[in-house]
Amino acid sequence: MPCVGGVTPVDRLPGWVTLVRAPNPGPMTLDGTNTWVLRAPDAEFATVIDPGPLDEGHLAQIAALGPIRFILITHGHFDHVEGAARLSELAGGAPVLAVDGAHSVGAGPLDRAESLGGNGLEIQVIDTPGHTADSASFLIECGGERALFSGDTILGRGSTVVAYPDGDLGSYLRSLRRLSAYENVLLLPGHGPALTDCAGAARAYLAHREERLAQVRAAVAGGAESADDVVGMVYPDIDPAIRFAAKASARAQLDYLRRESQAAPEQLDPL
Ligand SMILES: [Zn+2]
Repeated sequence: MPCVGGVTPVDRLPGWVTLVRAPNPGPMTLDGTNTWVLRAPDAEFATVIDPGPLDEGHLAQIAALGPIRFILITHGHFDHVEGAARLSELAGGAPVLAVDGAHSVGAGPLDRAESLGGNGLEIQVIDTPGHTADSASFLIECGGERALFSGDTILGRGSTVVAYPDGDLGSYLRSLRRLSAYENVLLLPGHGPALTDCAGAARAYLAHREERLAQVRAAVAGGAESADDVVGMVYPDIDPAIRFAAKASARAQLDYLRRESQAAPEQLDPL
């Protein structure tokens, strides 16, 4: 599968970033969930982003890179959070911080605009709902170098799903526009390879969404009424294993077009 919008993959991660990839490859998880372990040079504590599935071998590998100060969650899908409580236990009770308090452990919900510092890392939460309502990204600076951890909002290759009805296409497009401000900032996604330019990847994702929306508008104009009709017309060769994801995206697109037509009645044909 080609990389996102021709943005170059990173050949070597910064020294403060370690990737521990979970052994859960699949059509929705690509090569597996990316668990990111961050430690500033000479810092005692590490920070973890997305523990991944409840797989003892994977979690032991992460815990061995400790001590861990806290564990951040990009969003509540099980392939990112299932192992969080167990990792917290292995890490001596390190808190798990998530926007959706249901996934926090030993802490309240994470504020969508929070800044966290210490141990040589400056962490800024960036509110990026859309893939799910609770999706957040983390902009992290270490020694003058910045990286954006995007969870499933932008993947290292291919495209992501708007998990309707929890996910919302209007919010998702706004989140992509927000991420398109980070020119030449490393993009470290929840699945797939790290990329050199967050802004370039966000723009490619926006272009892809706009192209898909145009196809769905054309399908609706051609008589499509349901998500199944749209999938049949827009994604005729879809792999049956991910048809449910295409259907969720089709629902999100139909919902978006419906709201768009309600929000701007003056643009409708008066006849
Ligand atoms: Zn997800």
